[in-house]
Amino acid sequence: MTAHRIESCDVWELSRRRGSLQGQLALEDAPRLAEQLADTAGALSYRFVGLQDELGRPAAALEVTGRVLARCDNCGGPVEVPIDERASFYFVADEGELRNLPIDESSEEPLLGSVRFDVASLVEEQALLALPISPRHEHCAGAAPAAASQEPAGQTHRPFEALAALSKPRGGR
Ligand SMILES: [Zn+2]
Repeated sequence: MTAHRIESCDVWELSRRRGSLQGQLALEDAPRLAEQLADTAGALSYRFVGLQDELGRPAAALEVTGRVLARCDNCGGPVEVPIDERASFYFVADEGELRNLPIDESSEEPLLGSVRFDVASLVEEQALLALPISPRHEHCAGAAPAAASQEPAGQTHRPFEALAALSKPRGGR
């Protein structure tokens, strides 16, 4: 397997030497993402490239690609979601600086830089952003058998009878 745990990285160093880091994040190693998925087999590919932005700030570009199986909101079955995300970030040195940043209109997002920056978390976050809020099959076949509660056609709806039937002790065996 090519998937492995991502090491932390020094973003200052990465940016200075314009280095890049690439690899795979196993879905199993991304718990917040895995929670949203129907299947956690597989991995996402990422590329994290250090650079300096137009303002000379230490920055990085992230690319996350792959496919995940989300859960259909309608039937609960797996829905394939392609992930193809790109994002730009720049790094600040401390949290105070991060809090006091003026809102700027650039597409870059400020992040707290670190010598042990957690790339895996950032990859996971990016993939979470790519998931639809309410994933659904394009042509959904409907409710899953477990959730279906169809009454036989023509039968009158008698909720209390159904309740009584449910509360009867199970006989036999
Ligand atoms: Zn569905």
